[in-house]
This record gives sequence, structure tokens and C-alpha cells, in this order.
Amino acid sequence: MALELSDKAIPPRAHAISAVALLAPVTAVALGADVLGSSGPLVWLLSLIPAFLLAYYRGWRGVATALAVGMATLSITEATLSAFGRDLPDILFGVVVAYIGISLAVGLLADRLHKDRAAVEDMAFTDLLTHLPNRRHARLFLENEFAAAERGRQLSVVLFDLDHFKAYNDRHGHAAGDEALAEFAALLGEMTRRMDLSARFGGEEFVSVLAATDTEGALVFADRIRAALGSRTLPTGETLTLSAGAATYHPSMRSPDELLAAADHALYQSKHEGRNRVRLFGHTLMDHAMPSHDAAEGLRDRLGGDTSEYPRPSDEIGRTRPPLTLLPHQITGFGEGREVLVVEDDPQVRALVSTYLSREGFVVVEAPDVAAGIRELSVEFDLVVTDLRLPGAPGTDLVAAAKSRWPDTQVVVITGLHDAKVAADALNAGADQYLFKPFGMPDLRRELLSALQRRDLRAAEREERRSQPDDVRDRSAQTHAAVLRAAALLADAGETHEPYLAGHSARVQAYSMVIAETVDPGAERIDREALRYGAAFHDIGMLGVPASVVGHPGPLDSDQWARVRAHPARGRRILDAVLDDRDLLAAVTWHHERWDGTGYPDGLAGEGIPLCARVVGLCETLDAITSDRPFRPAMTWEQAMEVLRTEAGHRFDPELVAAAESCEATLRTVYDARADHTNDEADA
Ligand code: GH3
Ligand code: MG
Ligand code: MG
Repeated sequence: MALELSDKAIPPRAHAISAVALLAPVTAVALGADVLGSSGPLVWLLSLIPAFLLAYYRGWRGVATALAVGMATLSITEATLSAFGRDLPDILFGVVVAYIGISLAVGLLADRLHKDRAAVEDMAFTDLLTHLPNRRHARLFLENEFAAAERGRQLSVVLFDLDHFKAYNDRHGHAAGDEALAEFAALLGEMTRRMDLSARFGGEEFVSVLAATDTEGALVFADRIRAALGSRTLPTGETLTLSAGAATYHPSMRSPDELLAAADHALYQSKHEGRNRVRLFGHTLMDHAMPSHDAAEGLRDRLGGDTSEYPRPSDEIGRTRPPLTLLPHQITGFGEGREVLVVEDDPQVRALVSTYLSREGFVVVEAPDVAAGIRELSVEFDLVVTDLRLPGAPGTDLVAAAKSRWPDTQVVVITGLHDAKVAADALNAGADQYLFKPFGMPDLRRELLSALQRRDLRAAEREERRSQPDDVRDRSAQTHAAVLRAAALLADAGETHEPYLAGHSARVQAYSMVIAETVDPGAERIDREALRYGAAFHDIGMLGVPASVVGHPGPLDSDQWARVRAHPARGRRILDAVLDDRDLLAAVTWHHERWDGTGYPDGLAGEGIPLCARVVGLCETLDAITSDRPFRPAMTWEQAMEVLRTEAGHRFDPELVAAAESCEATLRTVYDARADHTNDEADA
């Protein structure tokens, strides 16, 4: 793409100088040759100037133009002078001959120089071995096309790299290698449209810049080249294959280098997948961004790097993994202004996810295990992304902890395919979504986008409820109250049908409210409404346990025991159908979990047990052990308090035991108000 002579614009200055140079002798003659004396006609030599200038800018064509204009000027001058009865000076004939001669010489010289320069330029832009344009040429062409792409034209590039070319060289020698390169180059050049440009990028790598071509077109082109090479038998009797990577311009790309980098990613992908194929930069590559264990090495270092290291030396193209996944056009900034907690023990996965998320605009907090994660949960996050298999406590604990504290926080769990059951447990613990490994950044983005939408929706709904006209709010409040009354009746029915349980729920509720006031006076951690009804309904699932089992004196057999253990889940099923209150359901579901993880139904432990459920659990035990049961008599209050103290950190949350001790007097009033107990004392 050497510069054409005609490309050179003639500057206005050159026109002006030419005009003056022509007018000067004309004016001199008009004023009378004697003005300048005998040297007057020499002024005509000035009219050579346009010939010189135009020869420089337009070569032969320039000289011809200058001659024509000069002759015309001369003729007009002569005609004008003779109209006034005057003659041109005699010497002028000699001047005209010299003028023509010199102009021709200049034109000839200019043309030679132009040809030489074009040849040199051609050499600078052509690859000597393959006669294809070289990398510099491709670069210039790409820059032009990139500028056009920024104005709305389509643009794609394809990088080709011959497969195992080193081995081919080794088998057949360098000369045969050269021959193969030249043969491929010829093939590539022939198959490239005139408006496009294919160039040798370096070594055995080639690039095609495809103007006005979309992704589809680029793939078709690249695959046609691949097929053509694959079906050609080289002089050595062998065939070669190639790998190709294609990429299409995207408005967020800021320079041609980014487009090349994208194609390079795709080329890397082709090589990685086994060569002899064409890959497109885009979604499937992002999938690849999750490190597989063999490719993970050194990934982290490279993650920090930006794409400005392009262009890389050509011998690296397609051979090393380019900095991954985070070209600007893949970043949408959907996390702007959001906060996310990432809990993951594998530092590489954590770094990858965090890097990706922070480039999306999230404020990212990382934690390597459940305990650290739960510590971070003292503040609210928009999202929590957590692995389920974590060292120490299981990921479900973290899920439950997050959801019990911050019900609106969206929890996305990451799990392996074989973990279907664990995933189900996570959903039970309150997770909003799960993502199976291995996943790609687009999957992650999709999940997180929908999680954020859900969170916003919840917030909007709450806002709407708040701003609803009173009658609508009243009506829905009435419905809610009716549901609660119905549930209370059910719970009551359960207790009446089992006399040992009479008044149990009411007392658990009373104890729970007292403890909640002590540990959380500001109602920041415990939703009182949820606790009140969670405590009242916690045993509603006992409805499904036969009276013979509930009132059974002595130890239960395994079947009976299984029925008892099922009551929290049954309770949840009953209430889940009519009530939409996560904390309330948590209290019902997990009030038999224990701090040390030995409880049921899920074996949650520590802060993994929602706080609401921990409160109800402690209070339910407090009431149970201070009540007579068919199989054992009631403990005294003091004995019961001793049980709480010794079980702190085992069965119970130490914080709650401490709270119970500090508000013991108030709790005791509930105990003292028991009808049966008061009667006992009255009897005694
Ligand atoms: P891969 O499939 O991974 O691309 O393997 P490869 O062997 O093709 O890749 P690598 O980059 O390791 O080797 C490229 C080889 O290309 C190394 C060099 O010997 C050969 N090569 C580069 N330029 C020329 C050249 O101008 N002439 C010849 N004959 N060989 C060249
Ligand atoms: Mg190669
Ligand atoms: Mg190579």
C-alpha cells in the first residue's frame, strides 16, 4: 500500500507561488520591456518555477500541466501585446526552448525518484520471503480500518498460526519450511479479497484484516483458509494444518491492539483445544477463564496485568495464555455501587472471581473460609458468592448466617456437579441461586445480574408496600393477620391434642422475646415479628407426630425418633405455604439445631444457625426441661439455669446463655406464671 504520487496534496502555497511566478514576466512585459533593460526577457525564466513545483507534486503530469499553462500564458500575453501594437522581445524564443527543455528534464528526474521511492517503500512494507505485506503494513492498514470501524464500519481480524511448524522444519529442513511458508502465503494472498489485507505477522504467523466484515464472515473466511491449507499437499508430500483466532471490532475497544489481543485469545483457545480449528473470541472463551487445574499456574500473576502489554512479540502469539477475559468490552460495570462478599478457599478461583467482579465495579470483600465470611457479615452486602466446600464449617452455615442477618442479601453458591445434594441443602439453608462448576464469567455475570435484579425487586416491593394507599395496606395486613390467626389455631390444636405441651409455645414465645430484648435491644439483628410467630409456631410440625409418640414414656425407638426429628421440616412445609417470612421459617426449621453442630435436621453449627432459631431453640429447651414429661420430671429453675451454663458453647450459643443469665429475673417471671407450676407450689 505504497503512497501514490497523486495522493500528495498540492499545498495552496505552491499554487500561489506558481501564479506569481507566471504573472511576474507578464506584468514586466506589459509595463514595457525597457523597464528591466536588456535583462528583461530573463524574467521569463521565473515561469519555470511552476514546472519544478508541479513536477515534485505530480511528476510527469505536473510538468505537462505547467507547460500547458506556461504556453497559454505566453500566447495570451502575445495576443494582448499585439492588440496594442507591441512585439514580444526577440530573446523570448530562446527562453521558451530552455523552458521546455528544463521542464522535460525535471519531469524525467522526478519520475525516476518517485519510482525509486515507491520501490523502497514497497520493500519496507513487504515480507521478502512470502511477498505478502509485512507486519508494519498490516499495522497501518489495521489502524485505518480501526478508525473506520469507530465510525460505524464493521471490522474483523483473523490470526493464523501454522501447527507444529517447528517439527516440520526439523523433519524437512529450513528451506522446505520456507517453501511451505511461501506456499501458504500465496494461498492466503489469493483467497483474500482486494479490500482486505493479509500479511505475514512474523515467523509462521499470519494476520488477515477483513474490512466491512462481521463475525460470521470472519469465521467463514478463516475456515476456508484452514480447509484450503489442510487439503494441500506440500512439495515434501506432507500437509500442514493451522489454528486460527478471529475477533470482531466492538465499540468499547480503544485501540487496534485490543482487537488483535482478542484474536490472540481466540488463537490461544484453538491451540489449547487441539489445533487445526478456528475459534472466535467471545463467550466460549470466557468459559475458559475458570482455571482448570493444569492451566491455573501463574494465572494469578497475569490477572493483575492489563492488556497494554500488546502487541506481544510474534513468537509468543498463541503460545502463552494472554491476560484473561477482561478486555474492556466485556466489562459492563453492572456492579457499580454494589458490594459483594466472595467466600472461596481456592486462592486462584477467589482471585479470578474477585478481579472480575471488581472490574465490573463491585466493592469486593474476600474471605477464605466460613468463619472469616461470617465475621464480614456484620455489615450488609448486596451479594454473597460462596463456595460450598470450604475448610472447617460447611458453606451452608455461611448461607444461613447471611440470610438470617440480611434477608435481602442475595446468596449465590458455587458447587461441583457431583454436589447436587449439597446444592439442595444450600437452597434449604436459604441460598437464592447456585452455579455449578466449572462455570465461566458470563455464567457468573448472568447469575449475579439476576440476583441483583431480585434484590432490587424486593426493595421496590417493600417501598411500594410502604407507599400503598392505606386501604390496600389494611387489606393485605388483614389477610396476613388472618393467616397468622389460623396458624396460631393450628399450633394450639397441636398442643391441646397433647396435654404435655400445653402452654409450651406461649412460654417459648415469652422467653424468646425477653432474650431478644437483651441481646438485641435495637432490633437490628432479630426481627421481632418473625421471632414472635416463629416461637409461637415452632412446634406446629408436631401435628404430624402421633400422640403415642409424643406422650411415650421412656426412650423412643428409631422409627418413633425419626418421626420426632421430622417435625421441624413438616412445620416448615405447613407454614411455607402461607407465610413468606424467612426468619420465621428459619426459627421453625432450625430450632433443634445445636451450636456444636450435633442437632437436627441439618446439623448446622455456630453462627450458621440463624439467630432467630438459636433463640427459639434455647428457650424451647428452657421450657421443656422445666416441664414434666411422661418420661421425666421437671427440673427446678436453678437446675435449668445450670444446664444452660454448662451447655454454653456446646448445645447453646454462649452469647445467648450470657443474655439469659443477665435477664434471668425477667425470664423467671414467665416461669413463675406457669399455671401448673404455681399450682404445684400452692399444693405443696
Ligand atoms: P504450534 O502448533 O504450537 O504453533 O507449534 P509450532 O512449532 O508451530 O510453534 P513454535 O512457535 O514453537 O514454532 C514456530 C516455528 O516456526 C519456529 C521456527 O523454527 C519456525 N519458523 C519461524 N519463522 C520461520 C521462517 O521464516 N522459516 C522457516 N523455515 N521456519 C520458521
Ligand atoms: Mg505454530
Ligand atoms: Mg507460532
